[in-house]
Amino acid sequence: MPAALAEVPDLVVVPDSSLADLTTLRIGGRPRALVEGRTAEAVAAAVRILDDAGVPVLVLGGGSNLVVAEGGLDLVVVAVRNHDVTFGEDMVCSGAGVTWDDLVAESVERGLGGLECLSGIPGSVGATPVQNVGAYGVEVAQLLVRVRLYDRASREDRWVDPVELGLDYRTSVLKNTDRAVVLEVEFRLDPDGLSEPIRYAELAARLDVEPGERTDAAQVRETVLALRRGKGMVLDGEDHDTWSAGSFFTNPVVPSEEIDAVRERVEARVGAAQAGRMPRFDADGGVKLSAGWLIERAGFAKGHPAPDAPARLSTKHALAITNRGSATADDVIALAREVRDGVREAFGVELRPEPVWVGCAI
Ligand SMILES: Cc1cc2nc3c(=O)[nH]c(=O)nc-3n(C[C@H](O)[C@H](O)[C@H](O)COP(=O)(O)OP(=O)(O)OC[C@H]3O[C@@H](n4cnc5c(N)ncnc54)[C@H](O)[C@@H]3O)c2cc1C
Repeated sequence: MPAALAEVPDLVVVPDSSLADLTTLRIGGRPRALVEGRTAEAVAAAVRILDDAGVPVLVLGGGSNLVVAEGGLDLVVVAVRNHDVTFGEDMVCSGAGVTWDDLVAESVERGLGGLECLSGIPGSVGATPVQNVGAYGVEVAQLLVRVRLYDRASREDRWVDPVELGLDYRTSVLKNTDRAVVLEVEFRLDPDGLSEPIRYAELAARLDVEPGERTDAAQVRETVLALRRGKGMVLDGEDHDTWSAGSFFTNPVVPSEEIDAVRERVEARVGAAQAGRMPRFDADGGVKLSAGWLIERAGFAKGHPAPDAPARLSTKHALAITNRGSATADDVIALAREVRDGVREAFGVELRPEPVWVGCAI
């Protein structure tokens, strides 16, 4: 480890760390070292010193979107742990290390609307622009005002407009790159305490509102949390269905000219009635399908492959790959490949993984 790290104020070296203890999938080996940056400046300084020394870096938030290899890892983990939060009348500015759902809960408690549909998503505030976190019809792209970045190429620390981030469906220019570290994030909020317009049909039905209506943000938060718990999508140490990296695959976007062929294959496999109900949404570049729906129709039921398997699909949600307590990265990778290949063979649709891979690949 570069000696200069010891001189950085508010940077704490944590001995004997393992990524298995730092990720929600609870899998991963031992890094060369783990340092925690308790201020934005400490995080940026640590990354700068390590970059200058040519040491590979893993920037870590809550570890909820990572699949990490086992064994010795030739990298230093810089954990982002700056926790300052400032609320204004219609905005909040948050340190990247703040737990995302704490920020959502506090804004709702303060009567500020905007973030409620994103309740219950694990991880840190700083990671939310990285994959343009989204759920129940809302993405952070809709709410971002500006983002403070440490740019690893220019070594500048600056605020950027969200348009610079290339935010798109579960991705941005920051995802799977070493481009920048998010240090702080500012979101717009609504002082009237009303939610974003409710666009997601299942949520609108549960809330008994028309799609597009806005309603009490606190009620939306509770309803979203209940829906997510039913799908194993709220972390719970006692529940193996939540020992996951969330949705393992993004919903595939099929070019419009290929959608009839996909539908025919679905019909051949599960019949016309089910094919007629296949969830499909217009999207940039074609038609977005539901990865979870396709996985189940390709023959991978919830809980696949068996109750005693170390890695299984969640028993509540076919899109989550879960560690039942003793899974290795190889178990997760083997199951992910089986599902991806099975969906490709059944329907000719390619599923792409949503998490970030460290030292391993699907
Ligand atoms: C049960 C469960 C449910 C989930 N539900 C959803 C959901 O509904 N919607 C959704 O979008 N996601 C969901 N996820 C995925 C995950 O929670 C989000 O992607 C989250 O934003 C990841 O945050 P994190 O801090 O844990 O990131 P980490 O897993 O620590 O890191 C993920 C990636 O972001 C990078 N990164 C982290 N922090 C920073 C930073 N400050 N600056 C630059 N790069 C950084 C890391 O280097 C890594 O490449 C879910 C995950 C789980 C386990």
